Amino acid sequence: MSLYGDYDPDNIFARILRGEIPSVVVWEDEHVRAFMDVFPQSEGHVLVISRTSKARNILDVEPEVLTRLMAAVQRTARAVETALKPDGLSLMQFNGDAGGQTVFHLHFHIVPRWSDRAMKGHGHAPQADPATLEALAQRIRAELD
Ligand code: AMP
Repeated sequence: MSLYGDYDPDNIFARILRGEIPSVVVWEDEHVRAFMDVFPQSEGHVLVISRTSKARNILDVEPEVLTRLMAAVQRTARAVETALKPDGLSLMQFNGDAGGQTVFHLHFHIVPRWSDRAMKGHGHAPQADPATLEALAQRIRAELD
């Protein structure tokens, strides 16, 4: 999908938000959800999305939604850092298929990084099992401010 076009109400994150597909939620409020990426590029890879916006990418998101999303990204990243003690954190966000985006509901990736471990490639990581993701989510959740 290009940068332009209509929001697909059946994209996978819309279906997750409707409860049609399971997700391992780290935390959520009425505006945002942070949940575990099921194909994690590193241990503790978390996605942050809006629960209300139909934005597909950074170009069409409402500024007030983006403000809430970025606050949620920071809150989540701080909890990831405290829980997992990575050496670094990569924040990623892709726009349009040529930009590497595969799910067209705006989202931010929080990927913990360790100096001695390579990050798996975007779109090339194996699927994690739900129990492993839930254990990580619990550790992150416990450190939320
Ligand atoms: P992007 O390529 O930036 O659009 O990222 C989409 C992300 O969604 C990828 O990192 C996928 O691993 C992740 N993903 C795809 N399906 C699911 C799912 N059912 N639950 C959680 N994450 C998913």
